Amino acid sequence: MLLHTSSLPRCQAAGHVKSTVSIHVPASPRLVPSCHHGSAAPVSPRRWTPPSVSCPAVLEAARPGQQERLEGAVPELCPGLTVVIAGAGISGLTLALSLLKKGVKCQVLERDLTAIRGEGKIRGPIQVQSNALAALEAIDPVVADDIMAHGCITGDRINGLCDGVSGDWYVKFDTFHPAVERGLPVTRVINRVTLQQLLAEAVIRLGGEDMILGGCHVTAYEEFVDRASGKKQVAAILEDGRRFEGDLLVGTDGIWSKIRQQMIGDAPAHYSEYTCYTGISEYVPADIDVVGYRVFLGNRQYFVSSDVGEGRMQWYAFHQEPAGGQDSLGQRKARLLQLFGHWNYNVVDLIKATPEEDVLRRDIYDRAPIFKWAQGRVALMGDSAHAMQPNLGQGGCMAMEDAFQLANDIAAMAEKAGQQGALGP
Ligand SMILES: Cc1cc2nc3c(=O)[nH]c(=O)nc-3n(C[C@H](O)[C@H](O)[C@H](O)COP(=O)(O)OP(=O)(O)OC[C@H]3O[C@@H](n4cnc5c(N)ncnc54)[C@H](O)[C@@H]3O)c2cc1C
Repeated sequence: MLLHTSSLPRCQAAGHVKSTVSIHVPASPRLVPSCHHGSAAPVSPRRWTPPSVSCPAVLEAARPGQQERLEGAVPELCPGLTVVIAGAGISGLTLALSLLKKGVKCQVLERDLTAIRGEGKIRGPIQVQSNALAALEAIDPVVADDIMAHGCITGDRINGLCDGVSGDWYVKFDTFHPAVERGLPVTRVINRVTLQQLLAEAVIRLGGEDMILGGCHVTAYEEFVDRASGKKQVAAILEDGRRFEGDLLVGTDGIWSKIRQQMIGDAPAHYSEYTCYTGISEYVPADIDVVGYRVFLGNRQYFVSSDVGEGRMQWYAFHQEPAGGQDSLGQRKARLLQLFGHWNYNVVDLIKATPEEDVLRRDIYDRAPIFKWAQGRVALMGDSAHAMQPNLGQGGCMAMEDAFQLANDIAAMAEKAGQQGALGP
């Protein structure tokens, strides 16, 4: 499902570089404080609250007895064709947006809306790279602009790999000019919750309040022939017994996908051997004007820090150890300082500046590539199809490319079927 970037519109959004000759560096939306914080200064953790984007429909779960056959308020360019989407992460929301823009009706089923809203837990920023932003622009330039406006550009400064203890650079890489030279938008770092809420808001604007239903835990699917029409259909089957029927089902339910489990039936996900602590803090390093994104490397451990704008830094600390490790309550920072306390002051300061309750921990899994992502009326995309480790910052980006391509393919198939509505029997 790789996207051919040549098919994407180039240099459309405001602020993009329009010429490969004269390269304009857009101003970073980050706030540069008047007083920088260095290693010698005391570090006091301050709690950061994620910005909220209003999104009424994702605030409530599906109502009991809700109409389960799909009746969206979408202008039907593909009459009769309906797509059921299992999971409202980056994949599911981007696919819904992409389909709705093409006039294809869909219904997103999400088991837990807090996964979109992220309340109660800081689900930190992710990099939305040029490939994904280009896909988003192709899907909906207005939404893409909105997302870019909420993001922070790190490529206008140094990005690279350095020694964890000394901080000496091993390699610096340029994420800015390669994008600009190809007419692609420049990579942004954006809060994951903000990204998902902007996508959800756009989906609801186009599809109506009930387009994203919460409390819908999909456990299986069934392909069947509709008695009345004689057409092949597919139903997503929920834990509570409800069925949502449509012409196609897309499993966007992440690395532990139930749809994938039924379709592929493969082995459990593979543990990467690394656990990952992550945090976000209201803290500005002394070299913020010079360094945007930096990976500190060590033996069996590494630490990633990134400016995320508005005076905040996001960090990830990876440590090689067996899966399933737990920390005693309130002891995560202590553990991190045990592991990284002798590292470069930029690492130590960031850990110290993060409130204990904002430090999260998860084990990192991925899956070996498979090359069958669809069967019958069911397809996989995003992490359910190709879960990868976070080191390239591409999992969510590839999901957006998937959404662009899959929606194009679905619309093209519907058109090929003679604009007659649902895909043939
Ligand atoms: C530490 C870390 C850092 C990362 N950084 C980046 C980055 O910088 N850039 C990047 O592009 N990617 C990054 N990634 C990868 C990225 O987070 C994933 O690739 C992306 O979230 C995949 O999106 P998805 O929608 O396919 O799956 P998910 O985000 O897992 O979403 C799945 C959704 O489906 C729902 N769901 C699950 N099961 C069911 C079910 N049975 N029924 C109904 N709903 C269900 C879930 O609640 C969730 O809302 C990072 C990952 C990690 C772990």
